[in-house]
Amino acid sequence: MEKMKAFAKVRPEPGGAEYIDFNVPEIGPGEILIEVKAAGICGTDIHLYDWAEIMVREYKPRLPVVMGHEFAGRISVLGSQVNGFQVGDKVTVCPVLYCGQCSYCKNGQQNICNDRPQLGLGVNGGFAQFVAVRAENVYKLDDEISFQIGALSELTSVGIHAIERIQLKPGNTVAVAGCGPLGLLMAILARHSGAGAVFVTGLEQDRERLALAEKIGAIPISVGKSDPKQQILEYTDGMGADVVFESAGTPSGVIQSMDMVRKGGRVSILGQGHAATEIFTANLSYREIELVGTRAYTKKDWENVSDTLVSAAKDLGHIITHRIPLEKAEEGIKLMKARKGMKIVLEP
Ligand SMILES: [Zn+2]
Ligand SMILES: [Zn+2]
Repeated sequence: MEKMKAFAKVRPEPGGAEYIDFNVPEIGPGEILIEVKAAGICGTDIHLYDWAEIMVREYKPRLPVVMGHEFAGRISVLGSQVNGFQVGDKVTVCPVLYCGQCSYCKNGQQNICNDRPQLGLGVNGGFAQFVAVRAENVYKLDDEISFQIGALSELTSVGIHAIERIQLKPGNTVAVAGCGPLGLLMAILARHSGAGAVFVTGLEQDRERLALAEKIGAIPISVGKSDPKQQILEYTDGMGADVVFESAGTPSGVIQSMDMVRKGGRVSILGQGHAATEIFTANLSYREIELVGTRAYTKKDWENVSDTLVSAAKDLGHIITHRIPLEKAEEGIKLMKARKGMKIVLEP
């Protein structure tokens, strides 16, 4: 059996992940073996690394499991029944292995499928030299997209889905609560979708991230220094934002989002916080605010990802702050936990 290097969660405890030898995966007739060239570290990877209770309950990881679900690479071997791809194709992968049979899948809502194991959580993922994936989940990337930008395809699909769900209209004033990778991504995609002004909020300690927000054409609001609601009201002649993307996943982010949105506006709940938020529901009714939950992405979102990466590549490049070798994956995770940098990309 041929060997490869991989970064895997090996023990059911906080930490407990190692850079180790794995067998190169064998592929079935409908699968593709991909040589991974770049893989991003995501908040979900941190939860798995920390062995967070909610993660264990939701995904029931079987260990050892190769981590990583945001990646791009080249096709190395094709299964005997795979059509439409060639060895050497530049590709990325939808890591959600939806069942394709349930009523949600049949309705195009693969993101909320009843049975959706995920690469890098329950199934061996992309923090490795090679990964085997069913062809259904593999998407070609335009040749001009770098592998690093290609590794942002999963994050970008989340954003494409959120914009679709919230029905962003050209000219809409947008606010984004939170300025992590997801927040900046939403600001970039909102701008590329024709939004008007795009505000991004952050804390005092997020100075560098807010500077990045400004670089991509958004208006940064440092919450310690100014009141986001006031600033947006002034800008919109007392109206408020048409659409708010809550990316922080914190109770204060949700409250702030409801403060920033206009009457009849929509708030996209993207951040997956683990703490309960107390909201004044009369505020929803009186002001007819819609809170719209959004999770991951559907097949349709992935079909658009290559084009989106091409058109937004320059701005998306700002999200990637570190490129480090796969063998230093654990250092990357620690950098992320310390909120240093934005998207950290591992290179096998
Ligand atoms: Zn992710
Ligand atoms: Zn399903």
